[in-house]
Amino acid sequence: MKLKIFGQAVSLKKEKGLANNKGLSGYYCPKDKVIVIDADARGDEFMLIKIHEVFHAMFDRIGLAQTGISRDVQEILAESVATVIVENFDLKPKRRKN
Ligand SMILES: [Zn+2]
Repeated sequence: MKLKIFGQAVSLKKEKGLANNKGLSGYYCPKDKVIVIDADARGDEFMLIKIHEVFHAMFDRIGLAQTGISRDVQEILAESVATVIVENFDLKPKRRKN
């Protein structure tokens, strides 16, 4: 699946055992422009992880990640925005033809 972050293509992949093997529910790789999410994540959990990682991709795309802003602040921003969106909006994945 391809996402678009301010016009830039970012791949979304699922990885089996990511949480068990690496202790991560998801991550964004700025070098490869890919978001990887644990394959067992479902529903609101999946959406929370996806939005969180999309924010990391957006921070990379808009240059915020390159400003020297601390990793902690980036995590707080990504997690709090993702949480408030999932808490308040009924989200369905956008169907996109690739
Ligand atoms: Zn994060």
